[in-house]
Amino acid sequence: MKKIALIGSTGSIGVNTLKVIETHAEKFRVVSLAAGNNVELLLEQARRFRPAVVCIRDREKAVILKSKLAGTRTRVVWGDEGLMEASTHPQADMTVFSVVGAQGLRPLVAAIKARKTICFANKEPFVIAGELIKRLAKEYGVRILPIDSEHSAVFQCLDGKKTSEIRRIILTSSGGPFRTLKMKALEKVTVAAALNHPRWKMGKKITIDSATLMNKGLEVIEAANLFGVPVEKIKVLIHPEAIIHSLVEFIDGSHLAQLAITDMRIPIQYAIGYPERLDSNGLPRLELSRIRQFHFEEPDTAKFPCLELGYEAKRTGGTMPAVLNAANEMAVGSFLEGKISFVDIPLRIEKVMKKHRAVKKPALGDILEADRWAREVF
Ligand code: MG
Repeated sequence: MKKIALIGSTGSIGVNTLKVIETHAEKFRVVSLAAGNNVELLLEQARRFRPAVVCIRDREKAVILKSKLAGTRTRVVWGDEGLMEASTHPQADMTVFSVVGAQGLRPLVAAIKARKTICFANKEPFVIAGELIKRLAKEYGVRILPIDSEHSAVFQCLDGKKTSEIRRIILTSSGGPFRTLKMKALEKVTVAAALNHPRWKMGKKITIDSATLMNKGLEVIEAANLFGVPVEKIKVLIHPEAIIHSLVEFIDGSHLAQLAITDMRIPIQYAIGYPERLDSNGLPRLELSRIRQFHFEEPDTAKFPCLELGYEAKRTGGTMPAVLNAANEMAVGSFLEGKISFVDIPLRIEKVMKKHRAVKKPALGDILEADRWAREVF
């Protein structure tokens, strides 16, 4: 029985993680749940999974939760301190992170130090502090398992093979909702259109990142950090069907790929079940004869400059990925509030990156300072 701390339980990955846990109730137990704002859903989850601890961001909401959960064995905590407690709960074997943005970094570091196995869907900490996280994981003997579908695919293809045998990692991308739009039309993109992703149902931030291809730019950095390969060895390939979740080309010319339907429960289950493969229990099966054709094309970096900004940030290294990430979080926020246009997103990010002098080999403090700085100058 694996005991799980789930950080970000009310978001789309969190909800799907609980579905997987429920399907394999004999394998997993929830010991803590943490959420940001959705007090109703958190309450429902707490009643259903009966964790030892639940955490919510605001104190007022914690008071509501406390009164509703009075008389149960679940303790209610709140704020940053509560989040640390939920992430490092003494009973947990494994902590699953699926919160939005850079805020997941501190609890993630704490969970590594508490020697929890880490499953992460939350790519930002790995983008801004990937080298530091890898170093800590090695020091504390902690395994890190990706949930992001592309990285799960690469992880499955690599299956313990040597980094020196990798020629290229090929990350696939559906191309987002605006793949076929002309440049002029891109200038008039609305928030509603950007939130309507053709293949994946996800949270708002990642859906916008998918539309700008920043999601792929962040994933390039995430892959370089996670698999320890230089960024030049990571290629992005547009694959609109989104069935091949990524590939690895080895030095002998062989390519291995992972294919599955587009359902996040598959990579979630692989991560939390690792090293076991569990039954997909009733999920639709992949029928290639019904799909019939796969398409591939090069990404259009003139139309989607965010992808190239990702490469650039990783090439500069140090604190630059943290600046890219923070400026992107700000830009996406401004776009969602209707303050800037879709095509302004990469321009605004690039402006902040140009002003930044990257600190080489940054400590956690340097990274958090770069993050704060980028938000301030944005
Ligand atoms: Mg992904």
